[in-house]
Amino acid sequence: MRTVILRDDDTNALTPIQCLETLYRPFLERGLPVNLATIPEVRVDARTPDGRREGFLPNLGNPAVETVPLIENRALLDYLRANPGFNVVQHGCYHDTFEFDRADRAEVVRRLDRGAQRLDEAGFTDVSTFVAPHDKISVVAYEEIARRFRVISTGWFEWRRLPARWRARFVLKKLLGRAHWRVGSTQLMTHPGCLLSYQRPFATMLAEIQRTIAQQPVTVLVTHWWEYFREGRTDEEFVRVLHAVAEYLSTQSEVQVMTFQAYADAASGVRPSDVKRPLQPTVAT
Ligand SMILES: [Zn+2]
Repeated sequence: MRTVILRDDDTNALTPIQCLETLYRPFLERGLPVNLATIPEVRVDARTPDGRREGFLPNLGNPAVETVPLIENRALLDYLRANPGFNVVQHGCYHDTFEFDRADRAEVVRRLDRGAQRLDEAGFTDVSTFVAPHDKISVVAYEEIARRFRVISTGWFEWRRLPARWRARFVLKKLLGRAHWRVGSTQLMTHPGCLLSYQRPFATMLAEIQRTIAQQPVTVLVTHWWEYFREGRTDEEFVRVLHAVAEYLSTQSEVQVMTFQAYADAASGVRPSDVKRPLQPTVAT
């Protein structure tokens, strides 16, 4: 059996519901869960590492507002609550540039805790997976994230960024050629780049994904919802590729699609029936 974990990044308080609906209705209808790496309190002027305005933001921000917490978009929360196939995981706090590539432990903790609090007040009280903006995590950030989360999902791991006591395990993972590894009770999961990206050829995208899934027991497939809606128009061809992936995944008896949470439960020997967890997030009033 092969396992696939779908991860869509950058949902935030300014994300149009229609974008998620257009992309993921075929997944939800087929019972394929989607992990939404969600920004708890998005900075309305967030920048990419090369200084451009992030693609998940609307073109014009309100200059009087610096950040918007998730709870301010009640309609989005209602939508997510109505569709439990979406599984919210924490994507940084504000999505600042290289937000968790910092050495100041107190600031790392402040951002982790504020992000968790923002998700909690939005009704997502059981978030156990963390995704760092721009895939950069410092040594102290790894330590603090591992203390709080059961899964860290990132593009890759670098020796020099890992806590010293993790390094022997990292070498072992490398020697065994594994994509995923574990320290204590935290699963450390890589992904094979963003195979679902508008910067790759659409014609070969599905075949590339099929090949990747066949090559390893567990594949994390990453995409970004806003890439399908660039410059005010829907990239229909790209959407068709994504929907073809849904079709493919649902018709393979040897492929199971899981949430990060379910994967962590399975990896640590927890049966689903042992976990007391609401099926839907409850929104605080
Ligand atoms: Zn992001």
